[in-house]
Amino acid sequence: MNQFQYMRPSKQKAAIDALAKDPNAKIIAGGTNLIDLMKRGVMTPQKLIDINKLPLSKVDHEGNALRIGALALNGAVAEDKQVLAKQPLLAQALNAGASAQLRNMATVGGNMLQRTRCHYFYDTALPCNKREPGTGCGALEGYNRMHAIFGFSDKCIAVHPSDMSVALVALDATVLVSGPKGDRRIPFAEFHRLPGDTPQQDTNLAQGELITAVEVPDAPFTKHVHYLKVRERASYAFALVSVAAALHIENNTIKDARLAMGGVAHKPWRLTEAEKTLIGKPATEESFQQAAEVAMRGAKAFKHNAFKLKLAPNSIVQALKTAAAVA
Ligand code: SF4
Repeated sequence: MNQFQYMRPSKQKAAIDALAKDPNAKIIAGGTNLIDLMKRGVMTPQKLIDINKLPLSKVDHEGNALRIGALALNGAVAEDKQVLAKQPLLAQALNAGASAQLRNMATVGGNMLQRTRCHYFYDTALPCNKREPGTGCGALEGYNRMHAIFGFSDKCIAVHPSDMSVALVALDATVLVSGPKGDRRIPFAEFHRLPGDTPQQDTNLAQGELITAVEVPDAPFTKHVHYLKVRERASYAFALVSVAAALHIENNTIKDARLAMGGVAHKPWRLTEAEKTLIGKPATEESFQQAAEVAMRGAKAFKHNAFKLKLAPNSIVQALKTAAAVA
């Protein structure tokens, strides 16, 4: 591992100042992804700004929204009574991620900022435009079983690995950030980026900006929700495909719906057109299949991930059936 400087500020302003003035500085909190990347030489920050002293770990319900501090631990958020009562889909998605040990170290802010698990990205002997822009994409013609079927570019076909973020995009969350120019709010759907010509940029955070919290607005998705994660083994594996499904059903009619997928794109993939097709329909398998068909429009597979073209719509139908508790 390269040598690096380390600081542990107790004031948010000091952390932002340090981050803003040094493009080679990185924030560290749980460290569950960054330390791995540093050990492998994939990321080589010259300074680590440890933010664990900042008071950013509270989970509150204020007004009509749940506010989750950036330093709240994934495991603690998944077990928080307010989260379980107001946003059970988020709790399910968090519990589907990683292992119990990792969930007890990883923070909400860090979960959003974790990097792709594309093998070519992690192996510094192989080409990767995300790790080293301009070197090419090893996965494009290589082994691409885990890769995207939506929103990719000829520069990068990686997927975002977070489960939590799939639920947060479905639930219309907002990311609260603080930076040298003050505070701003970023709709969750606009927080992560598609790769385009700049796959090295995962998010729309500006230089020096720090995530302080995530807000999740109240919604009537407390009963009919399901996070389905399909993976190679029963636990501690990244999603081949995942689906966050939330329905508001009255008299067997769908009044509102939220759907998003993970493991299929460079960002958590919201399915707004499919949601629209569900509204006003009966909560039946036929309605869910129609929504899945709409969701899959524009999907395209690579050599080793064509199975996702079947797995994804089947997972959407299954997640909606489980959410609706349709037999
Ligand atoms: Fe790198 Fe993206 Fe290609 Fe993977 S898919 S090798 S992360 S450029």
